[in-house]
Amino acid sequence: MSIFEKVFGGNPIKSLEIMKIDFHVHTSYSHDASDSPQKLIDRALQIGLDAICITDHNTIAGLEETAAYASDKPILIIPGIEIHTRDGHVLGINVTKKIEPGLNFEDTVRQIRDGGGIAILAHPFFWPHHFKAWERVDFTKIRDYFDGIEIINTSVFRRANRKARVLAEKFGLPVTAGSDSHSRDYLGKGFIELTGHGLTSKEVVEAILSNHPGNRVIGQEIKLLEKVKSAGIIFRETRKTRVRAAGTELGIMSFLKNRVKRRGPKIGRLGSSLGLSPNFFTLLSMGFGGLVLIFLVKINLIFASIFFAAAIFLDFVDGALARATGQETTKGAYLDTVADRYVEALAWLGFLFLPLPTYFFAPQIWIFLGLFGGLMTAYVKAAAAEKNLVQEELPDGFFSRPERTLSLLVAMAVGLFDLKLTMIILIFVALAANLAAWQRFAAYTRHE
Ligand SMILES: [Zn+2]
Ligand SMILES: [Zn+2]
Repeated sequence: MSIFEKVFGGNPIKSLEIMKIDFHVHTSYSHDASDSPQKLIDRALQIGLDAICITDHNTIAGLEETAAYASDKPILIIPGIEIHTRDGHVLGINVTKKIEPGLNFEDTVRQIRDGGGIAILAHPFFWPHHFKAWERVDFTKIRDYFDGIEIINTSVFRRANRKARVLAEKFGLPVTAGSDSHSRDYLGKGFIELTGHGLTSKEVVEAILSNHPGNRVIGQEIKLLEKVKSAGIIFRETRKTRVRAAGTELGIMSFLKNRVKRRGPKIGRLGSSLGLSPNFFTLLSMGFGGLVLIFLVKINLIFASIFFAAAIFLDFVDGALARATGQETTKGAYLDTVADRYVEALAWLGFLFLPLPTYFFAPQIWIFLGLFGGLMTAYVKAAAAEKNLVQEELPDGFFSRPERTLSLLVAMAVGLFDLKLTMIILIFVALAANLAAWQRFAAYTRHE
């Protein structure tokens, strides 16, 4: 390491008179962010940031650890918080005490200022966390309402940033820029350059408020595809941490799976006492799948739901039976997984025959997307194994087959009352299944 890197944080050609600051950074103390303060600081030094403002959602719990780790490093940690107010997200910069979420923005801003901080409207035009109280703002006194506005947030769409910039220019509001990164890969994608060197948090705040023409905001919005990919990675990382913390898997489905696993042997013994093989149950579940299709075609949702529930139940039984009787074979498992796809496809096919309403697109489009998303979820995993991309299986993600089939069962059953509900659930399944496929794809491609 050269002397330059040591003193100036890895960027020897950087001017002494400029400070590069990312004003919107989430650590793993935010429920939806993946990287520890240590990893973030290491990354910040690597990419030549001079300061970062830690803005975890509604908490200051990460500040101490961040500051401690940074204390002997050439980087300034500006304490902050991102508060979810009733009117949208507000950044408290230079804030060291916790501020309650859920208040209106006036009360939130007052608390931030009382504590010696400044209040910045975060991504004011980014739905659904946009600023919702413009009608309460007297624009002739806009600077009484908040101290500044975030005009570059690289995690939102360009349109939203453009609107924020127009507003700031119109009223001469002080501005900030930040990445709003929830993982270190996106840290520093947006930042502000201030004139000066070795400024303290207080001096940085003064420089922001001065709105000096030398304050330069820099950054480029992250592409949509990148965003989807990073959301998948962050979901996986944060879930890993949560699972570690809880000592067990979370979620309704894993709860159900565990129960079934415990009951499994009993069901299995029952089956074997009847002298039936696991493969018999697999084939029976496919037969029930056929009945589901027939009853959906007849728009008889009672019987369709009953047989679909039976098919799902048998799907649990065949595996349990195989384990209980020691007949667990690779071929049996293979037959089972292929049969499951048929049962699901038969259900989707049946939905085509229901008089479903159109939301955004014709029901056929959603049904196609749902079927495709479900198959892709399986395919990205199968293809990764087939191409020897991974040695071990990666976690299944938030919406895999059990969640999907149960949602389909609910969609059928609620159709008894109102087919609008059926359609809404199918749309949800279509979106979630494709997102899950993407999430898995991202996880497999990222895996080393
Ligand atoms: Zn936000
Ligand atoms: Zn944020």
